[in-house]
Amino acid sequence: MTEMKTIGIIGGGQLGLMIVEQAHLLGARTICLDPAPDAPAFKVSDDHIVASFDDSAALEMLCRRSDVVTYEFENVPGDLLIALEKRYNIKQGFRPLFDSQDRLREKENARAGGLHTPRYVAVDDMDSLRTGVADLGYPCVYKTRTLGYDGHGQVLLHGDIDLGKVKPYLGQPGILEEFVCFDYEASAVVVSDGDRTIVFPIGRNIHRDGILDLCIVPAAMSPTVQEQIVEGSKTFMDRCGYRGILAIEYFVRGEEVLFNEMAPRPHNSGHYTIEGCTTNQFRELCRYLLDEPLEEPRLLAPTVMKNILGEDLEAAERLAVEGHPNVYVHIYGKSECRPKRKMGHVTFVGITEEEYRARWSDRFVRG
Ligand code: AMP
Repeated sequence: MTEMKTIGIIGGGQLGLMIVEQAHLLGARTICLDPAPDAPAFKVSDDHIVASFDDSAALEMLCRRSDVVTYEFENVPGDLLIALEKRYNIKQGFRPLFDSQDRLREKENARAGGLHTPRYVAVDDMDSLRTGVADLGYPCVYKTRTLGYDGHGQVLLHGDIDLGKVKPYLGQPGILEEFVCFDYEASAVVVSDGDRTIVFPIGRNIHRDGILDLCIVPAAMSPTVQEQIVEGSKTFMDRCGYRGILAIEYFVRGEEVLFNEMAPRPHNSGHYTIEGCTTNQFRELCRYLLDEPLEEPRLLAPTVMKNILGEDLEAAERLAVEGHPNVYVHIYGKSECRPKRKMGHVTFVGITEEEYRARWSDRFVRG
């Protein structure tokens, strides 16, 4: 009998929870590290460490107790991870995290890897902001370069009157981007072990207030756009030499595909794969971590994933109690429920966007 392996996970949020579930199905043990004593993944992981992400001794303990380590949290301090990856099996390494932790570096890296991006300029004070605006024109979007997520640290600028809204952020590194009047957003979840690269079926993402609301699969797109996303993502991953999982978000404008951002971890837009595909993003990440061959995913049926934020938790719980065929309710078990906090998601398998809107969207506050 082969010995059971332990996967260490830096982060114990919902992504950690779903990595743990799939790791267990593949016969592995798990240990998670998170600062919150009630982190969702702790309820299912075999072991856990409560510690902050910059606690080097705790991170080292996680590595020592694991055969292989992954991360679901993106802002692990680089100096700590670089030191640890020399001595432990942090299989994806620090490089993809480093490339994604700063929006400017991320976009420069995307371009170097063959992808197109919206036009952008670096800004960090009022002078560079004004120069940037003169260059890009209105409307444009200001974003902090680091630590932004789900629309945090972003300002949409329509005219000079909005320049003042950026003031609170100036003094820290920022980026100004052209505002892309996209037709839709799409994302690719890619997993590579160096020999084989798999891409999950592409979803169309609908955001609300900067947060993913719906993911609709398959995304209705032209073969040219499909090819640019699938082949562009694979080539990018290959050129960068990344291994493991990478999610890339794109804007699609006509036949043009523009890189928005990436994350070297499972992605919210890939949650639909758990029931909508023959294999899922968490499982394939675990297969990579456990040195098992990757499986090519196939979509089982048209699928819609609805993100459940605080205001819709009750509606999701009701759906779970009612029990509907092909409706899969995931509640993450977070102790504090807040509006705009991701509390769960619901996957509707075997329905189109139109059917979802006709039959289910009324059930939610954020239909
Ligand atoms: P981000 O954190 O960069 O993914 O931004 C959150 C959301 O804001 C995106 O998913 C888009 O819906 C919107 N957004 C961000 N950047 C731009 C842009 N340059 N043009 C248009 N919309 C944007």
